[in-house]
Amino acid sequence: MNDLLDAAIEARGRSHAPYSKFLVGAAVRGATGRIYTGSNVESSSYGLTICAERLAICTALHQGETELVEIAVVADTQGAPGPCGACRQFMYDFAPKATVLMADLHGDTRTVSVEDLIPFAFGPGDLASFEGHNHSGTSDDE
Ligand SMILES: [Zn+2]
Repeated sequence: MNDLLDAAIEARGRSHAPYSKFLVGAAVRGATGRIYTGSNVESSSYGLTICAERLAICTALHQGETELVEIAVVADTQGAPGPCGACRQFMYDFAPKATVLMADLHGDTRTVSVEDLIPFAFGPGDLASFEGHNHSGTSDDE
């Protein structure tokens, strides 16, 4: 086990999941070496629930980390848990070069790149290459 996974396991213990009881922990290592953690936080309006991975990434960014190099996520699944689609997009936006360590509580782990998790992704580069092209929300002039 490594320190990032240990931090994710510890963070999992602080999950707020009264509805699903599905506890998830995540930890992110920034280029500075600092580790930031998150757990899932469920809302009674289920769609507002925040995943552990996104909370950890937001915490890192909020604390001033500009480059995220490694992410760990842990849950009580049978086999290493894959992040949801929303978290994969978030990883691509904020940690495109990171490696992602997924682990269950029984010792099964898997490590992949963010690029492997979200092939053919849409990201900041797509918006940067878009120059407006008069797409103001109205359809005049076309
Ligand atoms: Zn997620």
